[in-house]
Amino acid sequence: MDHKLFIDGQWVDGGPLIEVTNKYTGAVIGAVPSARREEVDAALGAANRAARVMADLPAHRRSEILARASARIRERGEELAKTIASEAGKALKYARIEVDRGATTFQIASEEARRLHGETLALDGVPAGEGYFGFYVRRPVGLIAAISPFNFPLNLVAHKVAPALAAGNSLVLKPATSTPLTAVLLCEILEEAGLPPGALNLVVGSGATVGEWMVSDARVAKITFTGSPPVGRRITQLAGIKKITLELGNTSPVIIAPDADLAYASKRCAVGAYYNSGQVCISVQRIYSQRPVYEPFTEAFVQASQAMVVGDPLDERVDVGPMIDVKEAERIEGWVQEAQAGGAQVLTGGRRERGVYWPTVLTDVRPEMKVVAQEAFAPVASVIACDDFEEALRQADETEFGLQVGVFTRDVNRVLQAIRRLNFGGIIINDTPAFRTDAMPYGGNRQSGLGREGVRFAMEDMTNIQLVAIRTG
Ligand code: NAP
Repeated sequence: MDHKLFIDGQWVDGGPLIEVTNKYTGAVIGAVPSARREEVDAALGAANRAARVMADLPAHRRSEILARASARIRERGEELAKTIASEAGKALKYARIEVDRGATTFQIASEEARRLHGETLALDGVPAGEGYFGFYVRRPVGLIAAISPFNFPLNLVAHKVAPALAAGNSLVLKPATSTPLTAVLLCEILEEAGLPPGALNLVVGSGATVGEWMVSDARVAKITFTGSPPVGRRITQLAGIKKITLELGNTSPVIIAPDADLAYASKRCAVGAYYNSGQVCISVQRIYSQRPVYEPFTEAFVQASQAMVVGDPLDERVDVGPMIDVKEAERIEGWVQEAQAGGAQVLTGGRRERGVYWPTVLTDVRPEMKVVAQEAFAPVASVIACDDFEEALRQADETEFGLQVGVFTRDVNRVLQAIRRLNFGGIIINDTPAFRTDAMPYGGNRQSGLGREGVRFAMEDMTNIQLVAIRTG
């Protein structure tokens, strides 16, 4: 089925069609026109005009639109889940969870829209402020350029669109070129929900053209980007003076202390390493296990890895579907072979068929190997033996990234030590770094990004503080 771009409340044609495939079978499942410069310009112009309309829309109206969108996401849930499973290759059971989370993200935004407020200020706390009454309000920034990755085609788009609208902004959205169909459905849903024309515009096309035109445009007040670190760096070079949120990569570590519940930890690590074929920014990649529990943990983790059902993502029983394309599966196959050549052991997996890569456990890896040092973004995890907790903390933290980290321990002193020592945006105790709920602050330190998502926190980043000082004397 051929789709259209969504600009100024109209469904419009553009340049040559981009075919979208089922990532397991390779069959074409739809096509979307690529946006040319004129469509991108029209979208930015429409959003710029709608920014004023959105800023003036009362909070209760914004809230109602978002609540209706949340309800429609649930009503169209199965259609959305099947679209995600087909275009992204995500197992249907996880695609359904993503849909549920997408509806929740809009629901949270509907609630937060009613509580966007500032505070009063004690300006007379310094002599120069005597005789002044002060407060600040949060004003929408205006036009937001949103660029999203392929791995959560609904919920990562929702984490940009819902808080932006809740805070009274307008957007131009560019989804990943490989997964635009879910974004088309989301635009239909927001149109059905009564969003004013131009408040959300959809353009599709390559990052190097459409993405760069968007981020370098002077009308854009803020960029919100989720994707790879090199593209994040490129955006900071092009942006000029704009607010920027960057949600980038990680080489997510997990620490297994000797007092951990090994049966639970091994099962959670397997889910955290392999769901969406490990193509999750907080996917479990480096597991530091202390020596007393290294062998039993590794054995249980291998068993849990082998229990994963691999195959067609539209099959309800399947846990692990294909990677986003065959090239990506070939890339990780190469990384694992390189690690093996350097002395790593493959305890299970290491197998590829077209775009599918089997859940893979490595041991005897070294810190400089790609599978450890770089973001694997694939269903591959390494278990690394550590002499003590201090050493596990040191190795887990020895990375340029800093998104989330998991620590399995029941010892409160270890928990407190981990909080002090680990420079990550999120520290997850007794679960893996893959834990995320949609209202919590979420984002990375160091090269993992700038700013935070999680609806309320994204809204803070999507508003400007406006001070009001009133001389009363
Ligand atoms: P990607 O290649 O960086 O692409 C992300 C988006 O950026 C796509 O829409 C892409 O368009 C666009 N883009 C590419 N080049 C661009 C440019 N020069 N200027 C502007 N936009 C450009 O990332 P991906 O492969 O889709 O996703 C995987 C990465 O995302 C991983 O590194 C992962 O860790 C990260 N991620 C982070 C989070 C988080 O919350 N921290 C969540 C999910 C994923 P095209 O599709 O046309 O290339």
